[in-house]
Amino acid sequence: MSVAPLSSKSYRYIFAGGGMSALSLVYYLSQSSRAQEPMLIIDPSLKLVNDKTWCYWSDKSEEFDGIAQKSWKNLWFHGPKGNSIALDIAPFEYHKIRSIDWYQFIKKRLSQFPNIEFLEAEVTEIIPEKKGTRVCCTQGEFIATDKVFDSISPYPCEINNPNHLKQHFLGWEIECHFPIFKPEAINLFDFRVAQGTECEFMYVLPTSKKNALFEYTFFSSQVREASFYQDKIKSYIQAYYNLSEEDFQIKEEEKGIIPMCLDTRASQKVAEPIIRIGTSGGFVKASTGYSFLRTQRINQALVKELEKANSSRLVLPNNPFKTWLDKIFIQVLLEQSVAGSEVFEALFQKNKGSKMLRFLDEKTSFWEDISLMATVPTLPFIRAVYHLISHSK
Ligand SMILES: Cc1cc2nc3c(=O)[nH]c(=O)nc-3n(C[C@H](O)[C@H](O)[C@H](O)COP(=O)(O)OP(=O)(O)OC[C@H]3O[C@@H](n4cnc5c(N)ncnc54)[C@H](O)[C@@H]3O)c2cc1C
Repeated sequence: MSVAPLSSKSYRYIFAGGGMSALSLVYYLSQSSRAQEPMLIIDPSLKLVNDKTWCYWSDKSEEFDGIAQKSWKNLWFHGPKGNSIALDIAPFEYHKIRSIDWYQFIKKRLSQFPNIEFLEAEVTEIIPEKKGTRVCCTQGEFIATDKVFDSISPYPCEINNPNHLKQHFLGWEIECHFPIFKPEAINLFDFRVAQGTECEFMYVLPTSKKNALFEYTFFSSQVREASFYQDKIKSYIQAYYNLSEEDFQIKEEEKGIIPMCLDTRASQKVAEPIIRIGTSGGFVKASTGYSFLRTQRINQALVKELEKANSSRLVLPNNPFKTWLDKIFIQVLLEQSVAGSEVFEALFQKNKGSKMLRFLDEKTSFWEDISLMATVPTLPFIRAVYHLISHSK
């Protein structure tokens, strides 16, 4: 990967935004028959800091397992009243990747390709033209002769809209001055912190006896000030580990608002000159907010399509029944006629952990989905279905 000159120039592929989705797409392109094509990645960030944690689960080995900071086989679910369930997730493992390790790994790989250029700039406009697509940025204008991959256009999920569900969270990576954590297991959902009907929980990933990531998370529409989540983390660490602020150091903080809205426009054709990818392209699984592994799978499929001379197939996995289930689930969390913690408790209590993970990955069969839906609180789900049917026109 080299640095692009400051002049107007043509590239086969231009990437507006060079974050997780774009860099992984370039990574797969660099392993394909398109590896030698001229490519330009435009992003104002050089990706020199650890700005995110990417976690995913899988029952087989995946492309980036090797750079995971830690992997776990043991996951806990804690219900709102302290009912704790050790989740039986075999053959799955849960992996945690530090974004800085991932960026360095990808950059090292791409540095072997002089045809892949990186420009530190902000894209201001993407204009389709007859002979290609013009990409305007703060360092000049460039032409994409084939495709622009756009990971910067906003996804239609509004922060202040009460009808739009978001996964919003703030996390602290802390180092305790003495060993206290049990790094063999994580708390995937700790609903002991839940208040009222809003879906809120703590997520705890201990990477060593002294280090752990605590993330206070909501699946709801009302985003809070940073101090709200920070106070929740402090109280949790005090309540469950008896640690005061003098006992630990905050090494890193991360925060995010991930859309949990379904966007029908997210379906797109590979034949189009501008392809939205990543969060922008609807790669996030709406009902979980996870997208790292999903992005890898979609990008691998996308590269196979790009290798064909003519392709018009839809890239995004599109199973109408699963989409419908996501919609119902999201509506239940928005309506809050039942506490989110109760919905999750019912699901995790009555279904094996591995089945839940397959369900969240959209790998369960139709009949497995029906059997799972039979374990959720019935009335709130019927209400949500009624709402969706009556608002479908
Ligand atoms: C803190 C955090 C933790 C997360 N943890 C997980 C997780 O554990 N598991 C999981 O599956 N998902 C997780 N996600 C969700 C998702 O995987 C990430 O958001 C992921 O980075 C999305 O990839 P992306 O390419 O869409 O966006 P990004 O990686 O954010 O990339 C977008 C890029 O566009 C650039 N950009 C923005 N504006 C412009 C512009 N005008 N011109 C040029 N470039 C621009 C940005 O600098 C950025 O590099 C997390 C998200 C956040 C925020």
